[in-house]
Amino acid sequence: MIYDRYMAVRKAIDEAAKEVGRDPAEITLIAVSKTKPLSDMEELAEHGVMDFGENYPQELRQKALELTHPVRLHAIGHLQTNKVRMILPHTSLIHSVDSLHLAETIEKEAARIGKVQDILIEVNAAGEETKFGLAPENTEELVRSIAPLQHVRIKGLMTIAPFVENGEENRPVFSDMHELLLDIKSKNIDNVDMEILSMGMTHDFRTAVQEGATMVRVGTAIFGERIYHQ
Ligand SMILES: *Cc1c(COP(=O)(O)O)cnc(C)c1O
Repeated sequence: MIYDRYMAVRKAIDEAAKEVGRDPAEITLIAVSKTKPLSDMEELAEHGVMDFGENYPQELRQKALELTHPVRLHAIGHLQTNKVRMILPHTSLIHSVDSLHLAETIEKEAARIGKVQDILIEVNAAGEETKFGLAPENTEELVRSIAPLQHVRIKGLMTIAPFVENGEENRPVFSDMHELLLDIKSKNIDNVDMEILSMGMTHDFRTAVQEGATMVRVGTAIFGERIYHQ
C-alpha cells in the first residue's frame, strides 16, 4: 500500500526527469516519515528503500535505534545546537545548516565521535519571513566560512519552497536555486562539493526535478496526511 504510493512518486520523478533529458538515476527520493510509525518505514525498507527524512531529533534518534533494516536517515528539520549530539551518530546527511555557529557545533561533536558529517546549506530562496535558511546572497560567504572545518563536509544546498497548490508556481524559485548551486560550484572551494540540490515536496517535486533537484523530500504523497497531536 505505502510501497505502491512510493513507487507512484518514483515513477513521476522518472518521467519528469526524462521530459527534460535528465537521467532519473541522478535523483534520490527521500521518504519523509516524520510523525509516521516505524511500521510504515519498515514496509518500505523491506522493499529496499534506503532514504528517509525526519524533522524532529528525538524521533530520528528513536527510530534509528529501533529500525531493523539498514537505512539512511536525513535530518531535514530546523536543528538547534543543543540537539546536534542526539542525532549525529544516526544521520547520514543534515539538510538544514544555516549558520556558522551550528556548523561549528556539528564540527565539535563529529570530531568527538570520529565522524565526518555531510551537510547541506539551507537557503531561504523565496525570502519568506516565516522560514529558516539564509538569503541567497549570503550563501557563498557562509560556505566559505564552513569549508575549513575538518569534520564537516558541505555537499550542496537545500531549500523549502513556498507552499503552493500548483507546483509550477515554484519554478522560478527552483531555477534560482540551481543557478546558485552552479555559481558556488564554479568557485571550486576546497572541501566543498556542490553535488546535491535538495528541493521539491509533495506539491512541487515534479517541477523541482525539471529544474535540477538531485534529492526530493516527499512525505504526504507516500505516507498520507500527517496528524499532529497537540
Ligand atoms: C515535512 C517536510 C517535507 C515533506 O513534505 P510533504 O509536503 O508532506 O511532502 C519535506 N521537507 C521538509 C523540510 C519537511 O519539513
